[in-house]
Amino acid sequence: TDLLHRRHTTLGARSPLFYDTPLEVVSGSGVWVTDVDGQVYLDGYNNVPHVGHANPVVAAAVSEQMSRLNLHTRYLNDRVVDYAEALLATFDAPLDRVFLTNSGSESNDLALRIARQHTGRTGVLVSGWSYHGNTGRLAELTTGLATGEGLAPWVRTLHIPDATGVDDASGLLEESLSAVDTAIASLVEAGHGVAAVVFDPLFSTEGLVSPPSGYVEGLTARVHAAGGLVLADEVQSGFGRTGGRMWGHRMFDVRPDLVVLGKPMGNGHPLSALVTTARLQDGFGARNDYFNTFAGSPVSAAAGMAVLQVMAEEDLLDRAAQLGHYVAGRLHEIVAGDPRVAAVRGRGLYFGLEFVDPGDPTVPDAAATRWVVEDMRRRGVLISRIGPAGNVLKMRPPLVVTRGEIDVLLGRLASSLAALSDA
Ligand code: PMP
Repeated sequence: TDLLHRRHTTLGARSPLFYDTPLEVVSGSGVWVTDVDGQVYLDGYNNVPHVGHANPVVAAAVSEQMSRLNLHTRYLNDRVVDYAEALLATFDAPLDRVFLTNSGSESNDLALRIARQHTGRTGVLVSGWSYHGNTGRLAELTTGLATGEGLAPWVRTLHIPDATGVDDASGLLEESLSAVDTAIASLVEAGHGVAAVVFDPLFSTEGLVSPPSGYVEGLTARVHAAGGLVLADEVQSGFGRTGGRMWGHRMFDVRPDLVVLGKPMGNGHPLSALVTTARLQDGFGARNDYFNTFAGSPVSAAAGMAVLQVMAEEDLLDRAAQLGHYVAGRLHEIVAGDPRVAAVRGRGLYFGLEFVDPGDPTVPDAAATRWVVEDMRRRGVLISRIGPAGNVLKMRPPLVVTRGEIDVLLGRLASSLAALSDA
């Protein structure tokens, strides 16, 4: 089409687009989006429109503040401080300070600067299949997307163990924690030392991996013992996505020093944050002038505050917990006895199915997964896929999804799986 051609000749033919035939969306409401031909889709993919596409409360708050004043943060403004207080009230001590930024990339990059300066070390531990952002430094530790940089010498990657369906979880735990010890020893020996471990509590890019119980605790304890800091990247797992709790790291008994938030935070308005301790923030401030033109503006604060307000009014944490249990139960029913599906994955309102070769469940089936994603689009539902082999369906609707809408998604998924047999 003309628009696709114009896009290719301006944004570049390599700028990523979903689907064999790209989808042109023009409007949205709640979990629904409408394309240029008037076709309506249930959005089972996007977590950025957390409280719903075109949420009127967010739109009104942003528009009202934009009409009043929007300015950088070197002047006092009560809306910005009100928002910082409201956000920090959702964290446990000693996490009581925040840097506001515009993107998850900026927040993770800043977190690594803080970790390196604070520890005087440079090494970073990261999952062997993950994504934390697109700055130069983060590109050097990216394992889950292509980057021209390659891994930096100060990075060690960890294979995040998956306990799904594993009988000997304690053996797996022991083995994978010993791999953490090896990675730490290697960073120390190379003279980098350990500045930080960075992890997504949902291990979502990894394919929604569920490590054995005690793994995240053991990993973070080892990093702390080596003098490093713990960075929980909650860009995917934050704001109630895991169901029943605001922050994904609370699924574990861990104490992160740095917590990065993003995506759903401003319901689409660019807003991200790095939450940390007074000690780390003040220590960094003593040596660095950190300024960020657009970050933490009154309009961003208005967007962020409106998201928190809608989340509370609509009781979204509890709703995500209840719907998450419902989804998990229904998914197990739908795939019961289906040899093509090795596992139901995920937590809360981030869920997936792992596709394998029915003849050999150790062989991932990316083609079947891809087929289901395209077929679901034909059935009017937007989803995607993740994992190193691209064989895990990725379903992550806006958090305001209702039970009725979940039933639509799951009903169409069941039909798609039935059609897959014939495909
Ligand atoms: N961390 C995680 C876990 C992410 O999923 C992403 C984006 N996909 C980022 C960081 C980067 O965030 P942003 O695109 O806002 O820079």
